[in-house]
Amino acid sequence: MIPQSENYTIGIMGAMPEEIAGVLELMTDVTEHNIGMRTYHKGKINNTNVVLVFSRWGKVAASSTVTTLINLFHINQLIFTGVAGAMSDKLNIGDIVIGKRFFQHDMDARPFIQQFEIPMLGVGHFEADAILISDAHEKINGAIENKLIHENEHPTYTAILKNQKAHIGDIASGDQFISNETTRENLIKHFPDLLCVEMEGAAVTQVCYEFNIPFIIIRVISDGANSNAPIDFADFVEHVASVISKKIVKIMIA
Ligand code: SAH
Repeated sequence: MIPQSENYTIGIMGAMPEEIAGVLELMTDVTEHNIGMRTYHKGKINNTNVVLVFSRWGKVAASSTVTTLINLFHINQLIFTGVAGAMSDKLNIGDIVIGKRFFQHDMDARPFIQQFEIPMLGVGHFEADAILISDAHEKINGAIENKLIHENEHPTYTAILKNQKAHIGDIASGDQFISNETTRENLIKHFPDLLCVEMEGAAVTQVCYEFNIPFIIIRVISDGANSNAPIDFADFVEHVASVISKKIVKIMIA
């Protein structure tokens, strides 16, 4: 449900250069703007104004990127796509997570405030808009049913992506690539309902919250946030991530 007025602009952030490259193929009328070591691609997807940018990795990089999208490109809405590590056993590699609640798992200003509470804001998490979530869920489920997302993928992933599912739920972000069982278990203890972990989402959502910009964050599971994660992650990014991100954005801005 994206308003189509002439001035409405959607910011699109991706956490991998491979993903940006895929989405760029969907764009027309593209102009490039180099600001703060990033390249912002301004243009259109169908009739919607978009600005596409690689967030870089981690909370600070992603926050500064979204702030530029808001203040210099005047975006009205943000779509973020990227890969993530699964924290729930319900999830498999290739599954899609639409974020509902976003936690910063490395925020800890005790004893002044509670662990995970965001300083100055008095909140423990940020929440995506319910209508945007259900709209995204409907579109992505429809695409999965029609095999629009997993068709023609790399042979290794054909079987995995055949059973691809979309989930709605909690995402935690921190400046840490989670790739060992002890850290993973510890996070699950703190956040029992967590679906996945990544390095940007809850920072971007904080900036959107502060500027009152609606956002939707969609993550594809690349690894299990365990000792095999570095290998699974690299392989997934190489073979699948760019294609999936492009398809997700196409579905979201149809
Ligand atoms: N390839 C990069 C590193 C990427 S960092 C380099 O060479 O430097 C990992 C990226 O994938 C981040 O954008 C993060 O959001 C996401 N991610 C995927 N799996 C993750 C995991 N297990 N833990 C944390 N972040 C993960």
